[in-house]
Parts: sequence; structure tokens; C-alpha cells
Amino acid sequence: MGGPGSGNSYRWGAKASTDARDRFDVAGLYRKGWLRPDTVGTTRWERGGRVTSAIGWAVAGEDGTATAVELRYAVGGEEVRERVALAWTACHFGGRRPWFVCPGTGCGRRAAVLYGGRFFRCRRCQGLAYESTRRSPGERALGKAQRIRVRLGGTANMLEPFPPRPKGMHRRTYERLAREASAAERAYGAEAEAWLAGMEGELERRAREEAR
Ligand SMILES: [Zn+2]
Repeated sequence: MGGPGSGNSYRWGAKASTDARDRFDVAGLYRKGWLRPDTVGTTRWERGGRVTSAIGWAVAGEDGTATAVELRYAVGGEEVRERVALAWTACHFGGRRPWFVCPGTGCGRRAAVLYGGRFFRCRRCQGLAYESTRRSPGERALGKAQRIRVRLGGTANMLEPFPPRPKGMHRRTYERLAREASAAERAYGAEAEAWLAGMEGELERRAREEAR
């Protein structure tokens, strides 16, 4: 994490987008004494010694207590400003600790850490977003095939035989689910094969280069 500094030193447009590995940790801010109203700062994330993303933040508060952190950063040249409310809870042995209140739609969970991406959200909100948007079509197809197997009383293990029709399930429903699962498995299989073919090509290319 970077440190607090002048708000003017932050150039919004110049910053890279953040990604899901960027952890914004409320305890870290608190420990360093930065969770006080009117404190501004920049937090940077590095990978391999290179700054890959950064956000600016400003703490808002009332009567000396921090009540929210306003985040500012740019994603794809577009400025994002978002206010993340803070919640304080009493600690068992005295004192109190801060939490982010996740700004995800319909969430509002208390979170010690928010994860980057287009927006900063709790692990759960980012997990759901990850599921639906970042997986490849083949991976989503595999997930669908696995859900159907589990619904039919089987397991998600694709090496096991396809589950038989459960008692009480209409034959038509079973046949429809089996067709959907089979199509999803084929879609996943095609992607996996294409990936393997690409991998083999890459290995051959490297072997040829080394032989030279
Ligand atoms: Zn959330």
C-alpha cells in the first residue's frame, strides 16, 4: 500500500485499471493512522516490481470519526468515483475496529478487504461477478454440465458416468437435462481440445527453437 499525500499529486487519467488481485484492506489503513476524516492518499499495487494499478482515496467523517472512504480511479480512461461507507464494531478486549460496507448492489456486507476490478467489492460480490463474466464459454459450459449432474443426484466429477433418472422425475425432464448436459460437455470438450492443440504447438515451437 502506498501512503497518504497531497490530493493534487494524483493524476486520475494516468492510472491503470485494477484487478481482482488488488486487495484494499481497511485494517491496513487504520493501523497506519490514515482512517481519519480529511486524510487523502494513494494506494498502489505492484507486480514483479512494477506498479500495475493505483487508486486515490479520501476519508470522510463526522466529529473525528471516519464514516466513509471515497475511492477515485480510472478504468479504461473512464473516471470512477465511489463512496464506501465504514462501520465500526467494538473489539472483545476494548477498542473498536473498522469495516468497509460493501457497496455492491443489494450487498452491504461488512468486509475487511475489498477486491479490485472495475469496482471495489467484497469477495462474495467479486466472486459472483467472476463467475458470470470472466470465465471462458467452455468453463461456463462445464459448470452447467456439473450443475445438471448434481441436480440428478450425481457428483460434479465428469469422469463418473452420467447419473440415471432419479425416481419421481419425468422422463421428458430427464431427457431434456441429459441433452443439455451433453451439449455443454461437448462445448467444454471442444474448448479443452483447442487449448491442448495450442499448447502442443507451443511446445513444438520451443523444442525447434532450442534445437537451433
Ligand atoms: Zn459485496
